[in-house]
Amino acid sequence: MRVAPGGTIGILGGGQLGRMLAQAAADLQFRTLIFCPEENSPASQVADDTIIAAYKDEAALRNFAGRCDVITYEFENIPLQTVNFLTADRPGRPQGANGREVSVQPAAEALRTGQNRLTEKTFLNGIGVPTAPFAAIQLLDDLIAEVPLLGFPCVLKTQRGGYDGKGQAMIRSADDIGTAHRDLMGQPAIVEGFIEFTRELSIICARGTNGAIAFFPLVENEHRHHILHKTTAPAPNVSEALARRAEDMARRIAEGLDYVGILAVELFETVDGALLVNEIAPRVHNSGHWSIEGAKTSQFENHIRAICGLPLGPVDPVRPSVMTNLIGDDVDDLSAWQNRDDAVIHLYGKDEVRAGRKMGHVTEVV
Ligand code: AMP
Repeated sequence: MRVAPGGTIGILGGGQLGRMLAQAAADLQFRTLIFCPEENSPASQVADDTIIAAYKDEAALRNFAGRCDVITYEFENIPLQTVNFLTADRPGRPQGANGREVSVQPAAEALRTGQNRLTEKTFLNGIGVPTAPFAAIQLLDDLIAEVPLLGFPCVLKTQRGGYDGKGQAMIRSADDIGTAHRDLMGQPAIVEGFIEFTRELSIICARGTNGAIAFFPLVENEHRHHILHKTTAPAPNVSEALARRAEDMARRIAEGLDYVGILAVELFETVDGALLVNEIAPRVHNSGHWSIEGAKTSQFENHIRAICGLPLGPVDPVRPSVMTNLIGDDVDDLSAWQNRDDAVIHLYGKDEVRAGRKMGHVTEVV
């Protein structure tokens, strides 16, 4: 379905990704309605309107749906129940604007897959996309049995809810097994072989309702303390063959999920030249922020275009760019960036500075 200019896009989640989506939507002459539990969220500061309610508040969701032509989400920890409530085919399901069925894009299946590392890696391997070797862990005994098969070091990760390195524990020797398991406090987990990567890359693609697909160039990502620090776009030293391999993986994932919108695929490039998927994100992604200045069409615009049934814009890079996140108190002194005419500062409007919190980013256009 195509959303007409002036139509309303609902966004579940009020963070910076929602903020940049709302900005792109406004440029395309759409209205945005944010649904999130927080007051004065980064997204609601720039959107047309906000419904402040819990994600499981069914009356509020019904009201939200009734005002939207299409709904999307900006982070993958939105309860699956929320999207199912909005879209499951059953009597009495919420209606969208003009009494039509409300559509949530990307659809529930992408959210379900992206929310759980076990589901995600099982899906990836099932469609022939390689990942680190992994095993499901529930009990300490499972871990004791699996670690020798993977070897040291390996990484224990919660199946759900982990991001930016949260909910992870490294296992370097047999002595770490008990502590790592205790740290995750009995949550269902997976254990993964540790990948000796030479670098981390990501590929972002946009897929439209008609199945058209566009790939942003591979980018190189540098993390600090498990949080994305810097993205170089396009990634240097990328052969045609590497780019095609990454695109092939992203295409299989997007088609396997019958995906609509922006999909991000985080990759490890290994010493022997293999490309493995670390994780997928069913949403716009931090490693695509450079595209606001650096690509013909930004990831945010292309997400809006895709979910509204518009043709995708071209994704060619217009100039090399480097995106640096402003984390925690990085944001307290921006004078060095402000003095430059080749740097664009983006602030997310978060009033409280906390260590490790993404407060903004800067894109240097080279
Ligand atoms: P994640 O939350 O799974 O994206 O992990 C955060 C970061 O931890 C990644 O970007 C990597 O730098 C590192 N990491 C996660 N899993 C592995 C692994 N299996 N091998 C090596 N490094 C990893």
